Amino acid sequence: EDHSSQPTDIDKEKLLDGLLAAGFDEVSCFSRYQSFLYRKTSPYKPSGYLVSKLRSYEDLHKRCGPNTQSYINALERFKSGHTIHSTECRYLVWISFSGLGNRILTLASAYLYALLTDRVLLVDRGKDMADLFCEPFPGNSWLLPLDFPLSDQFNSFDMKSPQCYGNMLKNHLINTSTDSVPSYLYLHLAHDYEHHDKLFFCEDDQNLFGKVPWLIMKTDNYFVPSLFLVPSFEQELSKLFPEKGTVFHHLGRYLFLPSNPVWALITRYYHSYMAKADERIGIQVRVFDSRPGPFKHVMDQILACTLREKLLPEVDLKDSTVTPLNNPRLKAVLLTSLSSGYSENLKDMYWEHPTVTGEVVGVYQPSHEGFQQTEKQVHNRKAWAEMYLLSLTDVLVTSSWSTFGYVAQGLGGLRPWILYKPENDTTPDPPCRRAMSMEPCFHAPPFYDCKAKTGIDTGAVVPHVRHCEDMSWGLKVV
Ligand code: GDP
Repeated sequence: EDHSSQPTDIDKEKLLDGLLAAGFDEVSCFSRYQSFLYRKTSPYKPSGYLVSKLRSYEDLHKRCGPNTQSYINALERFKSGHTIHSTECRYLVWISFSGLGNRILTLASAYLYALLTDRVLLVDRGKDMADLFCEPFPGNSWLLPLDFPLSDQFNSFDMKSPQCYGNMLKNHLINTSTDSVPSYLYLHLAHDYEHHDKLFFCEDDQNLFGKVPWLIMKTDNYFVPSLFLVPSFEQELSKLFPEKGTVFHHLGRYLFLPSNPVWALITRYYHSYMAKADERIGIQVRVFDSRPGPFKHVMDQILACTLREKLLPEVDLKDSTVTPLNNPRLKAVLLTSLSSGYSENLKDMYWEHPTVTGEVVGVYQPSHEGFQQTEKQVHNRKAWAEMYLLSLTDVLVTSSWSTFGYVAQGLGGLRPWILYKPENDTTPDPPCRRAMSMEPCFHAPPFYDCKAKTGIDTGAVVPHVRHCEDMSWGLKVV
């Protein structure tokens, strides 16, 4: 009998090259150890350093997480307002805020920040976090206990809150050279944040945070690109991610495991409509327009992009190629949108006319919810399932500015074609372009040089942090 502890190839694949820890109970979260059956093996391998960092974070989380003695002690000190720095556990509380795509990106950003600063990440469950995701860390929950003292104030936290870091700075209630720090700080990193809160991305301010046992964060932005510009994080980040543009790809697959009800939606849909295709094409249509749509200029754009880039075959409008092949190649298009018009149009086109390549094209759209309904459970389950299904395609087309698309591209390890944002109801020309990397875009980055204390173009500081394809002022890691 061979008792060798060498991992087999299947174990390696199943654990995503060491991203996932072994030994979880499979029944409580089927997606954890089944995802490898649905996705091609990623060409991007996590570094050994990242894998060991994840394992040591898991130990920290077990030791300091909810209901441990360390947590109980830290909570006592939190309530009493005393701060003792030394060996006590420090925490980062992530507030549930904004649409689901945004939340997935901000939670990944918060987790990376926790890794870089040796903090324990605790997740405010909001309406549905516990319903949508499995627990990612073994042995203890990532959910913030319901009796956390400030939970009922999370909604009202904003730039003007008394414990808001930027607000305190502005009012000279705190400064970066102080030794006496409060037991917690609220970090406001939402899109409407102003200069003082943006100093989060400066080294001196980071040094101050190091002394604060509890940080509470609200954000709707993927702020990872700007972490790459903080000198004290630079070296650690390049060890964790030698391939720079893989941050969300690795952390996303590690953290975001669909819960069993969502996994059921994903796998049923996949087997029904995607599994048998020779090629799968995802098209994510997100139209930021208050009118209901569908819009002709958007439909024209989808066709112009997919045909011109040869992602989909042309149709023969003269219907001259009449004899269908015996066993034609099948392309499955998974189109997601709040409106059903685009997929109906595409479906009709490929039914009414033959393709010039002889391929057949199936067009599928899981839901058409009409409008965003962030507070509804089934709606969010479907939104999560659709992001995940898009990530299982071979070729992906996404919409500008949409975090929904960023999640899909990152999980899938896909460099998408991005549909440019239409202006004045006109189809953009060119209609789309290939993304530089699969990383999400940070929509509201700071443009500040902390040392020189002046404005700078933060997209021109290092070669691996650049302006985004879909938003000229955004930043992304490439
Ligand atoms: P973003 O606004 O595109 O950056 O993405 P978010 O996910 O943060 O917010 C958009 C929300 O609208 C989603 O979470 C869904 O609730 C809904 N939504 C937008 N597009 C779709 C779609 O194609 N399918 C489904 N099911 N929901 C969508």
